[in-house]
Amino acid sequence: MAKILIVEDNALNIKLFCDLLAAHGHKPEAVTDSRNALDAARAFEPDLVITDIQLPHVSGLDLIRMIRNDDNLGAVPIMAVTAYSAQGDEERIRAAGAQAYVSKPISVVRFAETVDELLKDDQDRGAAAMPDDQPEIDDPESRANQPDDSPGPGEAGGEGD
Ligand code: MN
Repeated sequence: MAKILIVEDNALNIKLFCDLLAAHGHKPEAVTDSRNALDAARAFEPDLVITDIQLPHVSGLDLIRMIRNDDNLGAVPIMAVTAYSAQGDEERIRAAGAQAYVSKPISVVRFAETVDELLKDDQDRGAAAMPDDQPEIDDPESRANQPDDSPGPGEAGGEGD
Protein backbone atom coordinates (compact mmCIF):
# COMPACT_ATOMS: atom_id res chain seq x y z
CA MET A 1 0.00 0.00 0.00
CA ALA A 2 1.27 3.38 -0.93
CA LYS A 3 0.02 6.84 -0.06
CA ILE A 4 -0.67 8.67 -3.28
CA LEU A 5 -1.59 12.34 -3.55
CA ILE A 6 -3.69 13.29 -6.57
CA VAL A 7 -3.85 16.90 -7.69
CA GLU A 8 -6.62 17.24 -10.24
CA ASP A 9 -9.38 19.79 -10.81
CA ASN A 10 -11.72 17.46 -12.71
CA ALA A 11 -14.09 15.53 -10.44
CA LEU A 12 -14.56 12.64 -12.86
CA ASN A 13 -10.82 12.14 -13.16
CA ILE A 14 -10.42 12.27 -9.39
CA LYS A 15 -13.02 9.54 -9.05
CA LEU A 16 -11.38 7.46 -11.76
CA PHE A 17 -7.86 7.81 -10.35
CA CYS A 18 -8.97 7.19 -6.76
CA ASP A 19 -10.97 4.10 -7.73
CA LEU A 20 -8.08 2.74 -9.77
CA LEU A 21 -5.52 3.30 -7.05
CA ALA A 22 -7.75 1.92 -4.30
CA ALA A 23 -8.39 -1.17 -6.46
CA HIS A 24 -4.61 -1.67 -6.52
CA GLY A 25 -4.47 -1.51 -2.74
CA HIS A 26 -3.23 2.07 -2.45
CA LYS A 27 -4.43 4.92 -0.29
CA PRO A 28 -5.26 7.90 -2.50
CA GLU A 29 -5.96 11.42 -1.34
CA ALA A 30 -7.18 14.08 -3.73
CA VAL A 31 -6.68 17.83 -3.83
CA THR A 32 -8.78 19.83 -6.30
CA ASP A 33 -7.27 23.26 -5.70
CA SER A 34 -3.59 23.31 -6.59
CA ARG A 35 -3.04 26.24 -4.22
CA ASN A 36 -3.54 23.72 -1.39
CA ALA A 37 -1.45 20.98 -2.96
CA LEU A 38 1.92 21.74 -1.39
CA ASP A 39 0.46 21.97 2.12
CA ALA A 40 -1.52 18.78 1.50
CA ALA A 41 1.62 16.99 0.36
CA ARG A 42 3.55 18.16 3.43
CA ALA A 43 0.78 16.87 5.69
CA PHE A 44 0.05 13.61 3.83
CA GLU A 45 3.69 12.70 3.10
CA PRO A 46 2.80 10.73 -0.03
CA ASP A 47 4.89 7.97 -1.59
CA LEU A 48 3.88 9.30 -4.99
CA VAL A 49 2.29 12.47 -6.35
CA ILE A 50 0.06 12.35 -9.41
CA THR A 51 -0.66 15.80 -10.79
CA ASP A 52 -2.69 17.18 -13.62
CA ILE A 53 -0.81 19.79 -15.65
CA GLN A 54 -3.73 21.96 -16.72
CA LEU A 55 -4.76 23.34 -13.34
CA PRO A 56 -6.20 26.73 -12.45
CA HIS A 57 -4.18 28.95 -10.06
CA VAL A 58 -0.95 26.96 -9.72
CA SER A 59 -0.08 25.04 -12.88
CA GLY A 60 1.06 21.46 -12.67
CA LEU A 61 4.51 22.45 -13.91
CA ASP A 62 4.87 25.05 -11.14
CA LEU A 63 3.61 22.56 -8.59
CA ILE A 64 6.17 19.98 -9.72
CA ARG A 65 8.94 22.55 -9.28
CA MET A 66 7.64 23.54 -5.84
CA ILE A 67 7.62 19.91 -4.72
CA ARG A 68 11.11 19.35 -6.08
CA ASN A 69 12.40 22.37 -4.18
CA ASP A 70 10.73 21.37 -0.92
CA ASP A 71 13.14 20.14 1.76
CA ASN A 72 11.04 17.13 2.72
CA LEU A 73 9.27 16.32 -0.54
CA GLY A 74 12.16 16.73 -2.96
CA ALA A 75 12.63 12.99 -3.53
CA VAL A 76 8.97 12.03 -3.90
CA PRO A 77 8.29 10.55 -7.35
CA ILE A 78 5.89 12.60 -9.47
CA MET A 79 3.70 11.41 -12.31
CA ALA A 80 2.13 14.06 -14.54
CA VAL A 81 -1.16 13.59 -16.32
CA THR A 82 -2.09 15.92 -19.13
CA ALA A 83 -4.74 16.28 -21.79
CA TYR A 84 -2.43 17.97 -24.26
CA SER A 85 0.54 16.19 -25.67
CA ALA A 86 2.01 18.88 -27.85
CA GLN A 87 5.59 18.49 -28.95
CA GLY A 88 7.96 19.43 -26.17
CA ASP A 89 5.39 18.90 -23.41
CA GLU A 90 7.04 15.76 -22.13
CA GLU A 91 10.43 17.47 -22.08
CA ARG A 92 9.06 20.42 -20.13
CA ILE A 93 7.32 18.12 -17.67
CA ARG A 94 10.45 16.04 -17.14
CA ALA A 95 12.63 19.15 -16.89
CA ALA A 96 10.35 20.45 -14.14
CA GLY A 97 11.09 17.27 -12.19
CA ALA A 98 8.41 14.68 -12.95
CA GLN A 99 9.65 11.11 -13.55
CA ALA A 100 6.71 10.00 -15.64
CA TYR A 101 4.05 11.34 -17.90
CA VAL A 102 0.69 9.86 -18.93
CA SER A 103 -1.63 11.53 -21.42
CA LYS A 104 -5.40 11.79 -21.10
CA PRO A 105 -7.64 10.07 -21.77
CA ILE A 106 -5.58 7.66 -19.72
CA SER A 107 -5.12 4.02 -20.52
CA VAL A 108 -6.04 2.24 -17.30
CA VAL A 109 -3.31 -0.34 -17.84
CA ARG A 110 -0.63 2.23 -18.60
CA PHE A 111 -1.69 4.36 -15.63
CA ALA A 112 -1.43 1.41 -13.23
CA GLU A 113 1.86 0.22 -14.70
CA THR A 114 3.41 3.66 -14.42
CA VAL A 115 2.32 3.96 -10.78
CA ASP A 116 3.84 0.55 -10.03
CA GLU A 117 7.11 1.45 -11.77
CA LEU A 118 7.49 4.71 -9.89
CA LEU A 119 6.78 3.10 -6.53
CA LYS A 120 9.19 0.26 -7.30
CA ASP A 121 11.93 2.63 -8.45
CA ASP A 122 11.48 4.58 -5.26
CA GLN A 123 11.83 1.45 -3.12
CA ASP A 124 14.93 0.42 -5.05
CA ARG A 125 16.49 3.80 -4.42
CA GLY A 126 15.64 3.59 -0.76
CA ALA A 127 17.21 0.15 -0.46
CA ALA A 128 20.43 1.20 -2.13
CA ALA A 129 22.75 3.87 -0.84
CA MET A 130 21.42 7.34 -1.42
CA PRO A 131 23.58 8.54 -4.30
CA ASP A 132 22.42 12.12 -3.83
CA ASP A 133 24.27 12.28 -0.55
CA GLN A 134 27.60 11.41 -2.10
CA PRO A 135 28.44 13.59 -5.05
CA GLU A 136 31.44 11.87 -6.63
CA ILE A 137 32.05 14.07 -9.58
CA ASP A 138 33.07 17.66 -9.16
CA ASP A 139 31.79 18.70 -12.54
CA PRO A 140 31.16 22.42 -12.82
CA GLU A 141 28.59 21.77 -15.52
CA SER A 142 26.51 19.50 -13.30
CA ARG A 143 26.82 22.00 -10.49
CA ALA A 144 25.56 24.70 -12.82
CA ASN A 145 22.45 22.61 -13.43
CA GLN A 146 21.64 22.28 -9.76
CA PRO A 147 18.56 24.29 -8.91
CA ASP A 148 19.13 27.11 -6.49
CA ASP A 149 17.17 25.88 -3.53
CA SER A 150 17.78 28.75 -1.19
CA PRO A 151 14.37 29.77 0.06
CA GLY A 152 12.99 32.88 -1.52
CA PRO A 153 11.23 35.59 0.41
CA GLY A 154 7.88 34.41 1.65
CA GLU A 155 8.75 30.75 1.32
CA ALA A 156 10.30 30.41 4.74
CA GLY A 157 8.26 29.75 7.82
CA GLY A 158 4.97 27.98 8.10
CA GLU A 159 6.43 25.07 10.02
CA GLY A 160 5.63 26.58 13.38
CA ASP A 161 1.90 26.82 12.84
MN1 MN B 1 -7.22 20.04 -15.33
